[in-house]
Amino acid sequence: MAEQTPTEQKGWSGPTTFGAAYHGPHRRSTDLPEKPGLHEKGSLRLQSINGIIAAVACLTSLVLLATIQHKQALIEEMLGTDGAAVELLRDLMERQQMLTGILLLVVLIEVFSVVGLILWPVEEYIGRIREKKTLPLRGAYELRYLAKAYNAMFEENMLRNEELRYKVEHDALTGLYNRGAYEKLLAEHGREDSIALLWIDVDKFKGINDTYGHDVGDKVLQKVARLLAGDFRASDYACRTGGDEFAVIMTDITPDQQQVVMSRVEAVQEGLRDVSDGLPLVTLSIGVAFSDQRQEGEELFKMADKALYRVKEAGRNGCAFFSEEDRNRTI
Ligand code: GH3
Ligand code: MG
Repeated sequence: MAEQTPTEQKGWSGPTTFGAAYHGPHRRSTDLPEKPGLHEKGSLRLQSINGIIAAVACLTSLVLLATIQHKQALIEEMLGTDGAAVELLRDLMERQQMLTGILLLVVLIEVFSVVGLILWPVEEYIGRIREKKTLPLRGAYELRYLAKAYNAMFEENMLRNEELRYKVEHDALTGLYNRGAYEKLLAEHGREDSIALLWIDVDKFKGINDTYGHDVGDKVLQKVARLLAGDFRASDYACRTGGDEFAVIMTDITPDQQQVVMSRVEAVQEGLRDVSDGLPLVTLSIGVAFSDQRQEGEELFKMADKALYRVKEAGRNGCAFFSEEDRNRTI
């Protein structure tokens, strides 16, 4: 199985209600789009030209109206001289039609611009903001400008939340799930799923710190974490529950699959035996308990802990499964 770094565990974006994965630093895009100008298609400033057109149309209408009134006066004077009167009447009608046409055109332009460039996009934006989604770039340039700025802030905010959630759920030293996340995961999976809980303690770790120093101790813990994250299945959750204690929650596994657990444990132990990285050799004591879907997470932990205790008692460096004899054991 290809080795995963702790930060690549499936669990981070896995099948729980846990937060989405955060895989290291992200590029932050706070650059705002350029300021809107008159040259921009659909710009609101450009829309003001519509106002000018409307004003010119109104003036034209006034002039036409004045002419119509003048012509009307002439008709009144000429009544009786048939040919000329009819001619004037026809002229009058044509001008009236022209006036109506211009006004209609102006109104249509205004309606289409206001609805298509402003009202419809704003309506859509409100819907998307309510759904907590980014905005589509539509409508007048100013609206598209606002949408770009909004989207940049929205994404920035999402990243911050993701980072924050990552920090809350993960151990800073190893990148594994921390104690709080472990408890949440166990509560989530312990009841419904068939799971196995592996409770893991590094043997004589205090001695590593005392002999090689705390920094080397830290590197050893990181190595254990890397192996746990890499050697278990992508659907399992590797956690650091504190100090030199780790836990792995294996999902979709039943008590008859002890061999599956053992093969993963052996892979980790083999990784620890490889000291080509210059780190001191360490071993692990591991207690395993299977969930029968009846017990609470705390009870499962106690079962695994009892099995672990048995390994420690027997001289460490091993893996034991919880057995009925363990049930009456008091640690
Ligand atoms: P045992 O085999 O019985 O587990 O013996 P042990 O020496 O491992 O005993 P224990 O588990 O109690 O020791 C845990 C040690 O881990 C004690 C503590 O100083 C050390 N420790 C806890 N957190 C850290 C850490 O973040 N970094 C380092 N380097 N050491 C830590
Ligand atoms: Mg220990």
